[in-house]
Amino acid sequence: MTLTLLGAGSEATEDTTSEVRVGTISLPGQRDPGDSKPHLETAASLTKNTRVVGTTEQTTQPDSPSSSASVAPSPAAAATLKQPSVEPTDLVEEHITIAPGDTMARVFSRRDLSASTLHRIMSQGDPVARLARLRVGEDIVLSRTQDGQFHAIEFEGDESHHVRVVNDAENGTLVLDRIEHAIEARPVSAHGVIRDSLYLAAQEAGLSDGLTLKLAGIFGWDIDFVLDIRAGDRFTVIYEQIYRNGEYLRDGEILAARFINRDRELDAVRFAVGDNEYDYFSPDGRNMRKAFIRTPVDFRRISSQFNPNRLHPVLKTRRPHRGVDYAANTGTPIQATGDGRIKLAGTHGGYGRTVVIEHAGRYETLYAHMSRIASGIRVGTRVRQGQTIGYVGMTGLASGPHLHYEFRVDGVHKNPLTVDLPAAPPLAEAQLAAFDTATRDVLGQLDILHLGQEMQWRLAEQTRQRSSSMGTSPP
Ligand SMILES: [Zn+2]
Repeated sequence: MTLTLLGAGSEATEDTTSEVRVGTISLPGQRDPGDSKPHLETAASLTKNTRVVGTTEQTTQPDSPSSSASVAPSPAAAATLKQPSVEPTDLVEEHITIAPGDTMARVFSRRDLSASTLHRIMSQGDPVARLARLRVGEDIVLSRTQDGQFHAIEFEGDESHHVRVVNDAENGTLVLDRIEHAIEARPVSAHGVIRDSLYLAAQEAGLSDGLTLKLAGIFGWDIDFVLDIRAGDRFTVIYEQIYRNGEYLRDGEILAARFINRDRELDAVRFAVGDNEYDYFSPDGRNMRKAFIRTPVDFRRISSQFNPNRLHPVLKTRRPHRGVDYAANTGTPIQATGDGRIKLAGTHGGYGRTVVIEHAGRYETLYAHMSRIASGIRVGTRVRQGQTIGYVGMTGLASGPHLHYEFRVDGVHKNPLTVDLPAAPPLAEAQLAAFDTATRDVLGQLDILHLGQEMQWRLAEQTRQRSSSMGTSPP
């Protein structure tokens, strides 16, 4: 891979590759329909209540029937009203962090709480189902009365709900309370310039591994992130960060992204094609997805590329090379680039251990020099795109571990890097108006962000060239 555009260690490079956060971008209409509506005041006050058991204030008339579960008056408050004997100071609150091997049954029995109490809690239905599969490190809050009787249990039911089950001793019932957290998706942006790999550039731009994979997933139909990528390629991403009650929780989805690969400029924007079903489209409504992904190996595992015009390392002759080679460590998983059926799985002359997949219509892909064919991969087996079919090796005529990959259309070899691939259907004419409306803002933001980055990048480039032509290093 050439590293001529951006020399390592130059200050200009540092500037252009540094993470750029523009803070919150205002993008109306980008919230997932699946997201909970924020109920800021309610959730905040209720959440606060749950943290301080027994000090809640009465929020409804004492005689009002408890109607809505999610916004019901705090049962703790209700209990206080109905049972003056249970004052806050009468409750013992214990914060328990789930340790390896912990089950709720064990947590309860260790505290001499009966199995039947736990059973009654667990029979509260879906909201408490989480209790049965708590993970190590999760927290629950258990409150008991001074004489050791169960009073309440609290935990995070899911990302957007705090769940509390309170014993109403007077009525002999359990009261289930679900408190909705304020979940908010804030758009933020990042920008990166590639010096040697997308993976490193994304890290420098502050993108998590998960987001980097998502970015590669969006453009992986058009760009081979091993062989297509060049120093100076760059990207701008607008993605969501999910906040819960005002605190960062996790990264969300990529809303829009631009990738400059050599002279190609590719844009992608997220759009709902159904209920909770999203796809990425180019601004003119073409689906980014294609029948094949470009790279048959995880781009993060590849360090360098082979020279396709090399002398054959074993035969020492210049052979027509009808595929592309990916140098990778022995054992690196190889994935099917498209759905299909195994046509060949076995040793095949100079190809060594080889798998050939027959795809719908006119396509065939070939993967050679494997150290091992994945278990279950036999002639006739159906495979899915992305499924591991084998592992990189150097069987057959190979001087070092690598994957040799071929792509054939109607039996004719094509360059896998440049072959035109069949795409998923574009948006229907009738959807285009809605698509334009839904994506206009975020695509506008992408343009603005990108322009700013390009100006910085060009300035940095000029500075670099000027200083190198004067034979001095940048100040
Ligand atoms: Zn090869």
